[in-house]
Order: sequence, then structure tokens, then C-alpha cells
Amino acid sequence: RQQRYRSLRDQPAVTRDGTPIGLQMNAGLLVDLPQLAESGAEGIGLFRTELQFMVASTMPRTGDQERLYRAVLDAAGERPVTFRTLDVGGDKLLPYLRQSPEDNPALGYRAMRLALDRPGLLRTQLRALLKAASGRAARIMFPMVTDLSEIRAARALISRELEHLSRFNYVPPRSLEVGAMLEVPSLLFQLDPLMAELDFVSIGSNDLFQFFFAVDRGNAHVATRYDDLSVPFLRALREVVRAGERHGVSVSLCGEMAGRSLSAMALIGLGFRNISMAPPSIGPVKAMLMALEASSLSAELDALLDDVSQAGTARTLLEDFAARH
Ligand code: PEP
Ligand code: MG
Repeated sequence: RQQRYRSLRDQPAVTRDGTPIGLQMNAGLLVDLPQLAESGAEGIGLFRTELQFMVASTMPRTGDQERLYRAVLDAAGERPVTFRTLDVGGDKLLPYLRQSPEDNPALGYRAMRLALDRPGLLRTQLRALLKAASGRAARIMFPMVTDLSEIRAARALISRELEHLSRFNYVPPRSLEVGAMLEVPSLLFQLDPLMAELDFVSIGSNDLFQFFFAVDRGNAHVATRYDDLSVPFLRALREVVRAGERHGVSVSLCGEMAGRSLSAMALIGLGFRNISMAPPSIGPVKAMLMALEASSLSAELDALLDDVSQAGTARTLLEDFAARH
């Protein structure tokens, strides 16, 4: 089986009816980089920058951050890398960053909320990212965005850092794309204005699922109680894809569901053309999609989701479709 996936590595990820699908990988540390070549990923769809901070016992210095980001870009070569800015707080605590205890850390003082209130940390990181990406393509993504004002504030920090660097003989990135994670349901109800602010969107389905169903993703009693292939959740994901199409903004998904073959199949049926996953999932997902008639699946899935009398799950439809094909 491993052998079979390896033989798929250099084959293009195209569905049986001819739709190319971008399969990227999630990463966060230097040790992940050899997986780029081994998995055949087209790029890094999610680089979790907080991992460098979580494995350190003191705050990584700007130079250490810049060195890591440069090593990642060197390893990726022409393949795109999407750097997510620090996603700390909640369940990702840094021992050296003082935070008050919280009753509901997942809903608490985390990610962009913390980053925008204490912009020193984010500005340092943006500077490191922009320096590492000097002369190259840069893609920066903000986590846990809840309100559009957070995107504007973060973009202003990027402009400010670029301006600052321009005073020092600095070569700016060849291109700069700014994106956001869609992880908080509030964004689902302002998709058009959201898309207008961004170059790309990546759905963090782990957190979106947690907030959509109000289940703590780390609590085994409830985490698998609801279905990520449920009709309401898939309808929400489909709305994001459609809004992206309206605005010419690429929409990807980088949560764990992208790496499960049946849900990856569902995502392609919903219209996703880019997904990012843990490297070992790329082979199995590619094998699945090369056998997939994406247009027939879309027709069947759309019919179910368009039927307003439907609730429950699409899992049976998807399993039947997979069995028939
Ligand atoms: C997600 O929430 O789906 C995601 C990709 O981010 P993380 O798992 O790091 O929260
Ligand atoms: Mg998340």
C-alpha cells in the first residue's frame, strides 16, 4: 500500500473527470520539511508558526524566527508556503507568556485577540516573515479572525513593517498575499465583505466544527458526537466556496477533515479545489480523487444540500457513492 502511494507521488492530482486538485501539506517545524518531497505535496498550505514558540523555553528572537521561515522557504523552492501568524492562547499556552487563567480558553484571549492587543509580538513576527520572504512570494494568514476590523488592523501592521523595512535597503517580497482562517461562525454571515478584504481564505475546520456545534475539540466525551459530514456543516462549507468563486478569492481547507478520504471526497464534491493536510494523508487522498467522478458527486451532493427539508448527515450518500464508484 505504501509502495502504491509512493508511485502516485509524482503523478498529478486530477479527478477521473479531469479536475485538478491542489493537495498541500500542513507543517510547523524544520523536521516536517523532508515530507514536502516525500509526500508530493504541491506546497505548504498551513505552516503553524506557534510550534516554534511552543517547543522553546524562552521567546524565540526575531533572528531565530527569520531563520526558520527562510529555511522553510528554501526547502519549498517554487512551491507556495502559507505562514499562519501566532495562534497562541486557548489550549496553546506559552510557558514564558503571562496569561491569566480562563474558564473558557477556547473562547478566550487567544490568537488575533491577543496579537492585536499586544502588537509587539505580532510586529516582530511580521518583520521576520517579511525579511525571510525578501524577493520571494509571501503568503501570510491570520488565525481565529472573528471580525473584519481584525483583518484591517493586521494589514495595517504589515504595511507599517514594510514601510519600516523600506528604510533599510530592503527588497520587498515579489508578491504578497494576505489571507485569513475561517474558524469562527460569525464570518459565515459576512462572506462577501470578508472576501473583499482578502487574497485567500483557508477554513480551519477543526475550530470551525468546534464553534459550529459548540463542542470542545479536545473533550473526548463530545468531540465526535456530531458529524463533520452533516448537512448543515456541509452547507456552510459550500457557501464559503461559492463566495470565494464570486470574488475570485481562493478558498482552501486545512483542518483534519481534509486528510480523511471520505470527507476529502465530500470537499471536492462541494467545489473545493485546494486542500491541505498532514503529509501521510496525501497519498490516500490522491488515490481517492484519481478515481472520483467529481461532477457526478457534486450533482448528488448539491441535490441533497439544496433540499431544504433535509437535515441529518450526508455520510450515507457519500459512502454509497464511494461504494458505487
Ligand atoms: C483548524 O482549526 O482547523 C486548524 C487547521 O488550526 P489548528 O488545528 O492549528 O487550530
Ligand atoms: Mg484552528
